[in-house]
Amino acid sequence: MLRIKKEVVKQIKEQGEKGYPYEICGFLIGDIDYANNVRTVLEAYQVENRNKERANDRFEIDPKDYLKVEDYAGKKSLMIVGIYHTHPDHPDRPSQTDLRFAQPDMSYIILSVKEGKADRWRSWELDGNEFKEEKVELI
Ligand SMILES: [Zn+2]
Repeated sequence: MLRIKKEVVKQIKEQGEKGYPYEICGFLIGDIDYANNVRTVLEAYQVENRNKERANDRFEIDPKDYLKVEDYAGKKSLMIVGIYHTHPDHPDRPSQTDLRFAQPDMSYIILSVKEGKADRWRSWELDGNEFKEEKVELI
């Protein structure tokens, strides 16, 4: 399950609208309660979408950005708990590509941006080899 600050959701929506018609992406920063499988998101850290050829329907994160954000979170005694990205003019459901790069114990927020306006969003987690929608609580 995911707990996320309302302000963070607002930021992600703003970033998604600003980045439209391209996919934007970033890291969810906070902490993880492994015993109860609860991830809490306190901050969103946007990084560049490295996929320039198909930025309208693919995203790619530079491993250097991953290390940079991990370091940033560590300094605040926080960690990366997930990744968010947008689906311009597509539903808030993970694609096959999203599934291929997904890792366990992480939350994947997908925000649909329709005609430049933030629309629905959901959070997903890996369940075996598939994505399962997870419960979200706004804090
Ligand atoms: Zn996607």
